[in-house]
Amino acid sequence: MSDVTDFRGLGLRDELLAVLTDLGYEAPTPIQQESIPQMLTGSDLLGQAATGTGKTAAFALPLLNRLPQQDRGKLPTALVLVPTRELCIQVSSAIHRYGRAFDARTLPIYGGQPIGRQISTLKRGTDIVIGTPGRVLDHLNRRTLDLSNVATVVLDEADEMLDMGFAEDLDSILEQLPPQRQTVLFSATMPDRIRRIADRHLSDPITIEIGGKQQLDADRPKITQRSYLVPRAHKVAALGRLIDAESPEAALIFCRTRDEVDQLAEALNGRGYRAASLHGGMDQRQRSRIMAQLRNRNAELLVATDVAARGLDISHLSHVINFDVPSSPESYTHRIGRVGRGGKEGVALTLAEPREQRQLKFIQRITKQKIENSRVPSSADLRARWLDLTEEAVRDSAASPSEDSVYKAVLDNLSVDLDSDQIALAAIQIAHDALSPEIKGEDIPDLSEQWDEPRREGKGKQRHDRGKSRKDQSANSKRNRKGKDPRKVQRLFVSAGRNTGLRPQDLVGAIANETGLSGAEIGAIRISDRHATVEVPSQDAQRVIAALNKTRLKGNRVKVRVDRKPDYAHKGSRKRS
Ligand code: AMP
Repeated sequence: MSDVTDFRGLGLRDELLAVLTDLGYEAPTPIQQESIPQMLTGSDLLGQAATGTGKTAAFALPLLNRLPQQDRGKLPTALVLVPTRELCIQVSSAIHRYGRAFDARTLPIYGGQPIGRQISTLKRGTDIVIGTPGRVLDHLNRRTLDLSNVATVVLDEADEMLDMGFAEDLDSILEQLPPQRQTVLFSATMPDRIRRIADRHLSDPITIEIGGKQQLDADRPKITQRSYLVPRAHKVAALGRLIDAESPEAALIFCRTRDEVDQLAEALNGRGYRAASLHGGMDQRQRSRIMAQLRNRNAELLVATDVAARGLDISHLSHVINFDVPSSPESYTHRIGRVGRGGKEGVALTLAEPREQRQLKFIQRITKQKIENSRVPSSADLRARWLDLTEEAVRDSAASPSEDSVYKAVLDNLSVDLDSDQIALAAIQIAHDALSPEIKGEDIPDLSEQWDEPRREGKGKQRHDRGKSRKDQSANSKRNRKGKDPRKVQRLFVSAGRNTGLRPQDLVGAIANETGLSGAEIGAIRISDRHATVEVPSQDAQRVIAALNKTRLKGNRVKVRVDRKPDYAHKGSRKRS
């Protein structure tokens, strides 16, 4: 890995550097350090990176860097292909944010949005198109998207696109691009089928893999590591719950950017914690003041960016908390190595949003550390834990009673009109109130059931296997039995089958493209000669029906409705198919 630690060393234009400073980015993440200079040379690139590594900026900044400042034509110079509608919107708004210094025109195109609006924006002119494969192909077929000027194409989350059955769509889009273009492929995993796509469409690519050996020093074995799956909107509440449950002596909480540091410190202080913040925008005097606060125990939480926390030595640090999944295994190792020093025990906690799970798994694999997938304690768990602590404190105190006679005098006074149970209960209650934090009864969704099952990398996954009709049907139904609650799944009937050339991946692709459901949310698919069934989450069933009734499958209009046949009827039809 190169040793550039500053965005200025990467070869980006000053306007972009100014935007990054504004956004509070202090240093490039490892994937950015590696990819940006390479992409700027125009080479093809094959990068292993998941969400959470900073890969969007890793490809977006070079794309923007190359945009002419003036006289940009109407045709896009870059195309970014992404698997889902959510990612499409997310990537498009990230590129728009990074490119605001020179009014970069970005356009997300995905199924489910009126195509007319996309067509009129395309006509007005755009610089970077971000699209899902199905919708991009749709535009190409209608000749409403002209890719003849595209100099760079990026395949983002390529493994997800293959999982969702977009392999053929990708081939056909890539074949319609100018042959002299630059092709960049990012994927969280690198199974053979990704390498095959790379062999077909990339020419002499630079390969970037972030990771290497990132094991902790052998003398730091005493770090307990846990992770929690939390939706973004509930992260601050979950963090509060964890702090209350763990009652750290001192905790270092890592955020990605300056703004996030300031916002989180403010939110924690607003909730009654004593949190200080530290980031690269602070001068030495502010830094010293904050360090003194920690040393004097006037603050027990320090919220910081990686850059600002470099070289900090807090001797009584008991916890490191990653408010987001770190951008690389190296960063994870570096962060958590702040605790467990000098033979002391330490705790490292990581909050992960559902979309960051792959990055967390990657970190776990590379660092060879056991990170336990855990559940955020509920308010009832917390109450129970603090009652235990109160009980422990009372027992400890009873084991070595105070010699001070003033307490005995108070007891004698109380005993005149109260019995011993009354006195003990009241004293326990007072002790408990004094010891325990105020427990907020906020609702934090429990996502612990949603920790991903381990992926079978390299062999092709079940969703990918959908392409081969018979085998995949049993694979799909197995997945469904294992992973889904049958009450929450609705089976839909589709009036097209093998006779129209329909394959499972066509259904997955159409549903994902038109409704934004991810491949993982789509359940068992059965295809017989003249019709097909597909299982989708019940709450999305009407949306899927409406969307599929409006679109074409393999070029044909189809009728889609709730399937009314009992399950056993399908078991029969599966055998025949
Ligand atoms: P991504 O992996 O592209 O989804 O990015 C994950 C998050 O990291 C996003 O919220 C970005 O805004 C943020 N991010 C990307 N690069 C950096 C950086 N160099 N410093 C701080 N935050 C970053």
